[in-house]
Amino acid sequence: EPKESLNFIEIKIEEDIANNKHGGKVQTRFPPEPNGFLHIGHAKSIVVNFGIAQKYQGACNLRFDDTNPLTEDTKYVEAIKKDIEWLGYKWNGSVCYTSDYFDQLYEFAIKLIKAGLAYVDDSDAETIAKEKGTPTQPGVENEYRSRSIAENLQLFEEMRQGNHPNGSKVLRAKIDMASPNMHLRDPYLYRIITDKPHHRTGDKWKIYPTYDFAHGQSDAIEEVTHSLCTLEFEVHRPLYEWLIEKLGIFPSKQTEFARLNLSYTMMSKRNLRQLVNEQVVDGWDDPRMPTISALRRRGYTSSSIRNFAEKVGVARRENLIDVSLLEHSIREDLNKTVPRVMAVLKPLKVVITNYPEDKTETLVLENSPEDESLGKREVPFGRELYIEQDDFMEDAPKKFFRLAPEREVRLKGAYIIKCEEVIKDDTGKVIELRCTYDENSKSGEDTSGKKVKGVLHWVSASHAIDAEVRLYDRLFNVEQPGSQAKKEGKEFTAFLNPDSLEILQNCKLEPSLKSSKPGDQMQFQRLGYFCVDTQFTTNDKLVFNRTVSLKDGWAK
Ligand code: ATP
Ligand code: MG
Ligand code: MG
Repeated sequence: EPKESLNFIEIKIEEDIANNKHGGKVQTRFPPEPNGFLHIGHAKSIVVNFGIAQKYQGACNLRFDDTNPLTEDTKYVEAIKKDIEWLGYKWNGSVCYTSDYFDQLYEFAIKLIKAGLAYVDDSDAETIAKEKGTPTQPGVENEYRSRSIAENLQLFEEMRQGNHPNGSKVLRAKIDMASPNMHLRDPYLYRIITDKPHHRTGDKWKIYPTYDFAHGQSDAIEEVTHSLCTLEFEVHRPLYEWLIEKLGIFPSKQTEFARLNLSYTMMSKRNLRQLVNEQVVDGWDDPRMPTISALRRRGYTSSSIRNFAEKVGVARRENLIDVSLLEHSIREDLNKTVPRVMAVLKPLKVVITNYPEDKTETLVLENSPEDESLGKREVPFGRELYIEQDDFMEDAPKKFFRLAPEREVRLKGAYIIKCEEVIKDDTGKVIELRCTYDENSKSGEDTSGKKVKGVLHWVSASHAIDAEVRLYDRLFNVEQPGSQAKKEGKEFTAFLNPDSLEILQNCKLEPSLKSSKPGDQMQFQRLGYFCVDTQFTTNDKLVFNRTVSLKDGWAK
């Protein structure tokens, strides 16, 4: 492969391999905390970490970074494993858990205490924060910092045994209270948590390592050569390296890249959890969510997500990716692979007055202009049909190339019809159109000589099947709900789009869709790509999700 196409991480790895660092071995890891479902940002990290391992004949571990029992749960572990497999990746060996290293991490902490590099602090969190100072002012060394090694060992052991209440003591690294890097001002290594058992270790532990203490050490235990993470950890890197150096363990190296930010959505698990808990959405896999499970349910394919992540690429500068790029990647994929069918979402009855009452014709239509191998299907045509309400206008402007009084359109794959009469109810609402058809205008054997601009989708009224169709729009109505909320001093929920879900109950579908199964995907002609919902579909009721419209409805 040409050198130009390498990103900065690949360049670094190729240098390391060329220098025979770690014998040329490449070991990466993906380290989710099991405190929520994975989102599209995690998908980028997965593609980067697993992709690099694949490219350089290395391996990628899946490690659950489970150091906080308060927020973690086995249900998230299961969901995360499922999503990674669905994305098409296989982790190296068996799943790793930071909690499997708790004994080892405890030994590391003892080693630091014995070296005079860690101490037990009795101060409360507020005092510790105050004593840390500010980036422009050095912090204060408190009285606990000079505790003897023996006393620190004794107190830390007591903490482990549960002899001290929550929050009453912490273990801190003894580094430099005047460091320009705030993360080196005696960072927390362990805290006491006694109020909830851990999802794997139960109540064995009363103390838990912090992210900073657990992460690099777990990397070293697993002999991770390249620890790839997002830019916000750049300021943690000196601490990551300090701990590895002082403990004299495997020298894992951390490299940061820009996280994925996507417009019109939120990607922090904390915010997503709030939407789930407050029932703003119908669970983590609500098709409007930016989670992998939601995208799957909505009809995104794993290859479209991988392609999207590849397109976004790896850089060192933060940027905002427009959600239309994600939509483009699924359109591109489904356009090639799914059959076209006809469905009418907001039906308007059409009666063809000159078509025989008891007659049904069976039209044979091709399933995809993109792929002949998708074959053909039979579509019945009769005297009574449905078209889309939006495809008729009573006082239509000249450029309205759909149906209007006295105007003609072609019904896709069938005949040219002309609107002769408009039937309304008492309120003046149009409820039916009386039309005539030209029997010489049949698609493929048209001898009518007529030229019409509009082609409408339709279904035969007596053959149509009923379905519910769910249309989705952006979950938020501003580009960056997070920063907007901060700027305006509001909750991010203030920017939710109230019209993000539209449920259409009386949709009419061509009968070929009768045997549709949950997960099936298709294009509803002129309307977009759809899939059969896996949650709400029952034996008696088909529910469809719109994956994406055919064109970007928001394009300027
Ligand atoms: P969140 O803030 O959404 O809860 P997190 O970083 O706390 O995310 P983790 O479970 O710790 O969630 O993340 C696992 C890995 O995924 C980390 O290496 C993290 O850097 C990466 N990651 C998380 N969000 C993104 C993102 N938006 N883009 C790229 N990588 C991400
Ligand atoms: Mg995290
Ligand atoms: Mg987080």
